[in-house]
Amino acid sequence: MRARRWMWQYPTAAALALCALLTGGAGTSGARMAADVGLPHVGLPQVGLPLAGRTVVVDPGHNPGNPAHLAEINQLVDVGNGRKACNTTGTATDGGYPESAFTLDVARRVRALLDAEGARVVLTQDGDRPWGPCVTERAAVGNREHADAVVAIHADGARPDGYGFHVILPALVVAGAADTSAVVGPSRALGLALRDAFARATGEPYSSYLGQGTALVTRGDLGGLNLSRVPAVFIECANMRNADDAARVTSPEWRESAARGIAAGITAYLTGATAGVAPAQWRG
Ligand SMILES: [Zn+2]
Repeated sequence: MRARRWMWQYPTAAALALCALLTGGAGTSGARMAADVGLPHVGLPQVGLPLAGRTVVVDPGHNPGNPAHLAEINQLVDVGNGRKACNTTGTATDGGYPESAFTLDVARRVRALLDAEGARVVLTQDGDRPWGPCVTERAAVGNREHADAVVAIHADGARPDGYGFHVILPALVVAGAADTSAVVGPSRALGLALRDAFARATGEPYSSYLGQGTALVTRGDLGGLNLSRVPAVFIECANMRNADDAARVTSPEWRESAARGIAAGITAYLTGATAGVAPAQWRG
């Protein structure tokens, strides 16, 4: 990764190094190629990275330490149109696999995939703090980083007979510190790309209990969306209380496919391409 960053920052030197590599030395051929580096060089690695120069914030829902810090996470914060808990513990499978472990694992996998695409990836938490952050701070990270896209990763804790995934889009909220008017449109485009890529990568069905068969839900009560000034969505990857979905989220292979779907959706949104990802190999 360091090599790629170096090549992006110093394209001329990188081109020379590549030319030297291709021609077996920095001799005559290398010098001739060096004369060309002011021109667009289709095929050079830094040109080919689809997300070079883009910033993505990945928000792993909850925190494994939240249950031990209830006083802190239950403090109320202002989400523009109301007050909500700073953060929550999240849900778990019946077997005890916590949502916070799931979200952090998938987020790290997404980071690795987007990093390889050339993006600058920022996580709102990386298992490096005892609790939180609050939803207000999570939103502030995307704003501060001028993120091109923000995706919050969650898994649901719905009734056990419900299954499937859904994407949460920001409602139009203009109240207090909240103003989603500029990001409702692009967030919907991000959400659609994410939904399509996630379904294709994982084989996970659209939610059976929310979204009326569209896997899309619009909400105006989430601080992470209300307070975002950049395109932002949530994805509820599965219902952890459903036995079939629980088998999926506890599988590292499925989590990798989930990460591939999320990364592909973000890439499709940022590049304007159709979400290109191989169909799911995972069957559970
Ligand atoms: Zn959650």
